[in-house]
Amino acid sequence: MEDVSVSFDGFRALNHLSLYIDDGELRCLIGPNGAGKTTLMDVITGKTKPDSGSVFFGQTIDLLELDEPAIAQAGICRKFQKPSVFDALTVFENLELALKTDKRTWPTLFHKLNSEQRDRIQDVLQTIALPAQQRQLAGALSHGQKQWLEIGMLLMQDPKVMLVDEPIAGMTHQEVERTAELLLSLQGQHSIVVVEHDMEFVRSIARKVTVLHEGSVLTEGTMDEVQNDPRVIQVYLGG
Ligand code: ADP
Repeated sequence: MEDVSVSFDGFRALNHLSLYIDDGELRCLIGPNGAGKTTLMDVITGKTKPDSGSVFFGQTIDLLELDEPAIAQAGICRKFQKPSVFDALTVFENLELALKTDKRTWPTLFHKLNSEQRDRIQDVLQTIALPAQQRQLAGALSHGQKQWLEIGMLLMQDPKVMLVDEPIAGMTHQEVERTAELLLSLQGQHSIVVVEHDMEFVRSIARKVTVLHEGSVLTEGTMDEVQNDPRVIQVYLGG
């Protein structure tokens, strides 16, 4: 994203913001409420079109030329804070549905899964550590397990970029640790942007943290670098 600005009724939610996420990188975005984190995600996914600036996916795909479905189709997907899985379907069926509703495979919606598709579902079940629960109804899962299932549903679509909004809200300590492991295991194959308020969690997953403030990038660096930055301390503590 280069020099992106977004205004709502004259209020600058993003102000000449530039951000570069590397291929396969796991990046954390932090910043106080109102800093522009949600608006930034909205711009990447096409929900909000900026007033100015440019947003490119790779060298050639101009995201400002694409609408939301086309951006999703290009491999950029988003997970919101609240898990949205189908409670009345089993874990396996949720993943099956995610696979079949991918536009590239939707003609197979009413077909039986082939062995390659079954293997993919089993791979994802391993990744999200839910193979033993595959026949359980999703509604019977714990909150943390539902979050992982939803990440698994995104994985079924083989995304290149995953935008993840506050993944550990409401999780137990153990679930938080498992979520950190999961996200770390996904970096490299996917670029992942995580918005999160819990600084310990951010420290446990991110090599690089971007701090937003008043719609711009205040600073970027390792967790140690940004936490010791006097501007960051001032923004968070208002000192
Ligand atoms: P964050 O996610 O970091 O809390 P947001 O991106 O939600 O920040 O919001 C940035 C600023 O833009 C906030 O002051 C918010 O009130 C404002 N804002 C966000 N969306 C809208 C909107 N649709 N209409 C008006 N103002 C908005």
